[in-house]
Amino acid sequence: MTYRAPVKDMLFCMTELARLDEVARLPGFEDFGADTAQAVLEECAKFNEGVVAPLNVEGDKHPSTWKDGVVTTTPGFKDAFRQFGEGGWQGLQHPAEFGGQGLPKTIGAACIEMLNSANLSFALCPLLTDGAIEALLTAGSPELQAAYLPKMIDGSWTGTMNLTEPQAGSDLALVRSKAVPQADGSYRIFGQKIFITYGEHDMARNIVHLVLARTPDAPEGVKGISLFVVPKYLVDERGTPGRRNDVWCQSIEHKLGIKASPTAVLLYGDDKGEVGAGAIGHLIGEENRGLEYMFVMMNAARFAVGVQGIAVAERAYQQAVAYAKDRLQSRDVAGSSGAVPIIRHPDVRRMLMTMRAHTEAARALACVAAAASDAGHHGADEVARRENMAVYEFLVPIVKGWSTEMSLEVTSLGVQVHGGMGFIEETGAAQHYRDARILTIYEGTTAIQANDLIGRKTARDGGAVARALIAKVRETEAQLSARGGADLDAIAARLSAGRAALEQAVDFVVRAYKGDVRAAFAGSVPYLKLAGVVLSGWQMARAALVADQMLKAGEGDAEFLSAKIATARFHADHLMTQAGALRSAATEGAAGVLAMPETAF
Ligand SMILES: Cc1cc2nc3c(=O)[nH]c(=O)nc-3n(C[C@H](O)[C@H](O)[C@H](O)COP(=O)(O)OP(=O)(O)OC[C@H]3O[C@@H](n4cnc5c(N)ncnc54)[C@H](O)[C@@H]3O)c2cc1C
Repeated sequence: MTYRAPVKDMLFCMTELARLDEVARLPGFEDFGADTAQAVLEECAKFNEGVVAPLNVEGDKHPSTWKDGVVTTTPGFKDAFRQFGEGGWQGLQHPAEFGGQGLPKTIGAACIEMLNSANLSFALCPLLTDGAIEALLTAGSPELQAAYLPKMIDGSWTGTMNLTEPQAGSDLALVRSKAVPQADGSYRIFGQKIFITYGEHDMARNIVHLVLARTPDAPEGVKGISLFVVPKYLVDERGTPGRRNDVWCQSIEHKLGIKASPTAVLLYGDDKGEVGAGAIGHLIGEENRGLEYMFVMMNAARFAVGVQGIAVAERAYQQAVAYAKDRLQSRDVAGSSGAVPIIRHPDVRRMLMTMRAHTEAARALACVAAAASDAGHHGADEVARRENMAVYEFLVPIVKGWSTEMSLEVTSLGVQVHGGMGFIEETGAAQHYRDARILTIYEGTTAIQANDLIGRKTARDGGAVARALIAKVRETEAQLSARGGADLDAIAARLSAGRAALEQAVDFVVRAYKGDVRAAFAGSVPYLKLAGVVLSGWQMARAALVADQMLKAGEGDAEFLSAKIATARFHADHLMTQAGALRSAATEGAAGVLAMPETAF
């Protein structure tokens, strides 16, 4: 078995930190308590461990290939994707009225993690399909929803997200693709999109592209972008894919990682199909509101990419632990008769604990964010719904930015634990490192997440949501101190220092944003990392508190709970302590960033 899903930890996060019992009281989620979560997770683990995970190395060795516009995926992917659809996994979190199972995100996020741990390249196809489904659910007309959603939700068709063009990456104001209105209400789409994940492949009967483009009279900038649905095969009255639309895969990229995931250059309007010149598309929602709708899709996808970071970190950790128990090298520093497994060496333990603590902390934070999303969407009380939504939206750039940044450190440590063998491809540790490298780039780079965090999420409300979360961190500190004991006291002290650092940084961001805005942006990524390490560490502190209570009450699995406290303690001593340095960089580092003239570079 190359991957074993951490079901126990996932359930702990859900039930003890994200309060699944409260999620299950939300309207529509009454059937989704801890028992259902356990059953779903166990089934999901079986599928991903047995079917998807074994294809991970295969995908790296035999990436998708392109020939004459046709993309053939890694052997085994097509069959695994069929099983994925038949198992109902694509529809997990989507509404029952379109064939989904309507599970809360609190449970769904764990399933997404498993799929991504099993195989990042494979998982990208469902990930983008989920995003396209969300956008259609939000803004698609009933006709578009009826035509596309059931087939996407049952895994027969897949979805893509077409934003990027050669001149428009982080800055979507520069999108140039054109959408020309037709007499029958449809549009003809012309332009070139690049880097389109699963833009072409052989795993599904149809591909539903969601495309950003401009109508002829659209205003300049982001206010003139509209969103269109453009299927590879046009859908006839019976809902069957028919004529070939005018969208073509010109090539796919050769990449550092996630090699099995085809990254396509798509040409719209090359006049090679069965419909004449211009790909036929249908407007989603209203003209010029495309970016707004795309943000729905991007928020879902950004959260999911954050989960990808956690997923690849988990896989790298598991592999490193297995190697560290197996590899014999050097005597124990405290003395031994011969070479010992390297896990005995304190520094190897430090590396493994860093990997473990980062991963568990980020998982806990994502789980708590997912529960806020569930309450934000499904809560009965309007005020509570708005508050939860604000918390979720504050956490999305942190889950995305922080979980992916930490995955680079964790997968790099995974290579380090393996020593020289880590650098050798056959070992497999290097693949996780290479695969993880894209995660801080796509769906908005870490800098773009950080810009969002300081601007829309912190400065805009004067730091209100950030301070509300900080107040909750203080409550945890008080609870830890009240309970006492060596570990909880130490965790409380570190958490308190981290929280104070975050508080100072929030004050700085709110102030600087109104005055010296370049200074605020100069520290934006350190600010995001500070928020990431403190808020994820806060979850570890909460976890330690619960674990301590359960242990003393004689409840639960003592080995798991003791390990949770040890991991939380490690997080506090080794990771939370980085908060001070990050605060300095965020609030006092602008001079160094901005001093040199451009000519001096
Ligand atoms: C494998 C892969 C799959 C992808 N899949 C998709 C997909 O399915 N659909 C899709 O539409 N796109 C996709 N992309 C595109 C991806 O989202 C973009 O590459 C990403 O958003 C960055 O844009 P860019 O490459 O143009 O870099 P640029 O925008 O040119 O950025 C270059 C650097 O400048 C920095 N930068 C730019 N603007 C700012 C700013 N305002 N503040 C601070 N720093 C800034 C960035 O952080 C980065 O470090 C994919 C890309 C890859 C490589």
